[in-house]
Amino acid sequence: MMNVNDLIKKFEKPTDSNQLFYQAMEEVVLSIAPLLDSDDRYKKNAILERLVVPDRVIKFKVEWFDDNQNIQVNTGYRIQFNNALGPYKGGLRFHPTVNEGVLKFLAFEQIFKNSLTGLPIGGGKGGSDFDPKGKSDFEVMKFCSAFMTELHKYIGPRVDVPAGDIGVGAREIGYLFGEYKKITSKYDGILTGKPFMFGGSLMRPEATGYGLIYFTETMLELENKEPLTGKICTVSGSGNVALHAIEKLYHLGAIPVTCSDSKGTIYHKEGVDLDLLKDMKFNRRVSLEEYLEVHPEATYIPAEDYPADGHAVWDIPCYGAFPCATQNELTGMDAQNLIANGVEVVAEGANMPCTTKATNDFLNHKICFGPAKAANAGGVAVSEFEMAQNASMGKWSFEKVDQKLKTTMQQIAKRVVLTAKDYGVEGNYVDGANIAGFKRVADAMIAEGI
Ligand code: NDP
Repeated sequence: MMNVNDLIKKFEKPTDSNQLFYQAMEEVVLSIAPLLDSDDRYKKNAILERLVVPDRVIKFKVEWFDDNQNIQVNTGYRIQFNNALGPYKGGLRFHPTVNEGVLKFLAFEQIFKNSLTGLPIGGGKGGSDFDPKGKSDFEVMKFCSAFMTELHKYIGPRVDVPAGDIGVGAREIGYLFGEYKKITSKYDGILTGKPFMFGGSLMRPEATGYGLIYFTETMLELENKEPLTGKICTVSGSGNVALHAIEKLYHLGAIPVTCSDSKGTIYHKEGVDLDLLKDMKFNRRVSLEEYLEVHPEATYIPAEDYPADGHAVWDIPCYGAFPCATQNELTGMDAQNLIANGVEVVAEGANMPCTTKATNDFLNHKICFGPAKAANAGGVAVSEFEMAQNASMGKWSFEKVDQKLKTTMQQIAKRVVLTAKDYGVEGNYVDGANIAGFKRVADAMIAEGI
């Protein structure tokens, strides 16, 4: 029977392609050591060895015609990692950086996140190296149709229910759903994040960003810290998660002063203009640089003006910092800058946006730190609400979904805090989330046998 150190050694030489998975796996494995020591059932049932290997990795070719009638070829993936708690559930990412390693890391994280929600959903993830940026609507439709031609063989409302992620929003989900329907003649809830008019849940677009802020408010309350009202906050990214986190910060009376994209950062001291950002990013899909045409008083900092391991967003003094763009976007150097500037709370909207060094720096400095698998679970929670609505052919009101989301995020925060206390790592939300998430999945695996 392997112990924790043997298992980490087995993966000792992370290669470029599995480095992110290694980082995620090592964090979980180190966190759960106290649980393994206190209950020998997990070792006896080889849960760790079984949990770090996906149930299956599906890889397929996606061929499509571009607008010039040239044939394009991309690679598609679906990683069905673990379904001990329910059907595989996790987003699809369309981005040139997508490969098997990136998706394996995301699918692994998804297992524990989904477990933490307390809902009946397993963990999966998928996507393609296709880049929707710069493509016409017609090209995106062609690609989505070709992608679904393969993917539909492996998904189903009780089997695997994908959703959106980077590069996959309502437009892509709509095209994917349309193709599934055409191929199978079924009107199944096989995707979440669908537009409301054909089975989507109200509040799914807002869910991850709003949930992040609900989680943070609860975490601050449990730690007896001041709430976000009136506080300066920094946010990275300008996609679905970032803009809805900014929206909820405004609802609470906080002042979000930054956002970013892969080309640069906007710093607007009085608070960023959310309506303008939504129009730029959701409707016109343009670079943030254009923000200055309306707000010349704001500052735009191009990404190339910054050192390789630092990011302009995290140089701005703030009470709360919310990384909402992508993995490993907040480095050790960024963490040092935030700490030096007096940050009190950091919560991850993106998946694993803080490097291991940054995370450890926050924990060592007793900064209130909300890890992604707890803090950004609002998106998948509302996706599960969408599955429930589809299954019953019903529709829930915005208020009902919002209330259920809020309650779910509060329960996750409480579960994480109590677990950390129970296992002697009080205040460490990383360990608390990993132990609580692992325990529910592991107990189900033991009960289901091999
Ligand atoms: P979007 O595609 O809507 O937005 C992504 C944002 O991040 C864009 O502003 C994008 O800028 C920026 N970005 C992407 N890659 C990079 C990079 N390498 N460097 C700098 N900026 C980058 O995605 P989402 O908002 O949906 O997702 C953001 C994060 O949240 C991801 O980690 C995702 O896995 C996670 N997440 C999303 C959920 C959801 O419900 N959507 C649920 C839970 C987690 P640009 O446009 O220039 O590329």
